[in-house]
Order: sequence, then structure tokens, then C-alpha cells
Amino acid sequence: MDTQALKTIGCSLLNFDDSMIEAFISWIDQFPRSGRAPKGKKTEFDHIKAWHSAADLYRNTGLIGQPIGALFTYYDQSSIHALVDSFLAAGKTKKESLVIEGVTFLNRSSMAEKRFLALSKILAERCHQLTEFHRTAIDADKNDLKVVFKSPADQKARATYKSLDDEIWVRSDVDDHGELYGHLQYCFVHELGHRYEYKMGLPTGFYDRAFYTTKYSYTEGLAASECFAEAFAVSHFDHKFSEYTDTIQRFKRLF
Ligand SMILES: [Zn+2]
Repeated sequence: MDTQALKTIGCSLLNFDDSMIEAFISWIDQFPRSGRAPKGKKTEFDHIKAWHSAADLYRNTGLIGQPIGALFTYYDQSSIHALVDSFLAAGKTKKESLVIEGVTFLNRSSMAEKRFLALSKILAERCHQLTEFHRTAIDADKNDLKVVFKSPADQKARATYKSLDDEIWVRSDVDDHGELYGHLQYCFVHELGHRYEYKMGLPTGFYDRAFYTTKYSYTEGLAASECFAEAFAVSHFDHKFSEYTDTIQRFKRLF
């Protein structure tokens, strides 16, 4: 979307009503979510952030928040033009989505572009290393999978799989420490385990008690799903989990 289109759409949103929500989302997605406000534009930046929150709310719940329209009442055509010019001067736009090998990565957090690109690259590389049934977790409906980075304020768990939207949400502050348990790549493969189950079902012969591995796979009365996702993850990083070798071997034979 070029700045002229952003101005035109922005002006059409001045009389915002709920039927304009999709146009609004594609418009606000072009604006930065974080960083420094341009000089003298702090109030406008607060509006932009509030609009982003409203867009996130809509994406997460389908609710259209009242602030969307209310904030547009502060603007007219010329101030919308000024808003686009001051926040979206050429070259200033922040990259917030990329597609690597069919997987879409989205930055819906306030983390910097540099970190977003780095974490996406690490996860794309992890996808690349998956084989056999682990690979199926990506290849099933391959082009639908989205990896969405969320701010800690919006997401408590380190990562979670949202089956209805086919999205893996990753908290933007989860650090990558190689293949360590509980860190970025491990959590990601665990969530892919949930995606595998959602797309393919549990393999015949799987029942949780026979495949307990990590403490997490059998605590807090968690269902078979958690046990499966943990077995899915430890069997991918099997060289790190020699204590579960027997269980991993039996698990792999189910596929
Ligand atoms: Zn889980």
C-alpha cells in the first residue's frame, strides 16, 4: 500500500462504521506499533497504538471496539494526510510480516523489526530440519500456518497453538538458547505437536500413560494432548533426551 492509498483509505475511515473493519485493519497494519514517535506527534502515536490494540482485539475475539471510531473524530482529511506523512515517510515502514517456505511470520508485538526477523529466521530454520512425521506437522495444510509473535501483555504462555486460526502464538520475549528445553525452538516444536494432532489426529496406539516423558507431560492433570506434544518435541530433539530413549523409540514406531 503506498502513501497515497493510505491517505485515501484513511479519509474513508473518518466516518468509521463496523462494515469498514477489514479496511481499517489493513490500514492500521501499515503503521508502526513501537519505537519513537516522530517529533511533536506523541498524541497521534498514542492513537495509533490504541488502534493497533483494537485491531488485535478484533483479530483475537471478533469484537469491534468503540475506540476505533471515536479516535477518528480527532481527525479530518488534512490531519489524516499529515498522519500518513509523518509516520510512513518512505523507507520508515517496519517490516511486520514475512513468508518463508510457505510459513507466514507476523509481528503483532512491540518487538523491534531486527528481533522479529532474527526469531523468524531461527524458527524457519527449525521447520527446515523437521523430517518424517515431524515434517507432517508443517506440510499438512502447509500454506495456512501462521506464526504470530505476541507481546507478553497479550499472552501468558510462552507459546500456544490456536487451532481455529491455525496460528502458533509465540511470546516475543521468549529467548532462543539453541535447543534447550522450554526455550524458543523447543516450545515451537511442542506447538507443532498440537498442530499435528489437530490436523492428523493422535496416532493409533497412542495413550498418554504409555508415553510420559518430561514432567510437564503428566502434571496438572493435563490431557493426552500435552503428553503427545511433549513426546512429539522430545522425539525431534531426541539426542538431547537420552533419558527417554525407550519411550521415544516406541513413540516413533506409532507413525
Ligand atoms: Zn501444549
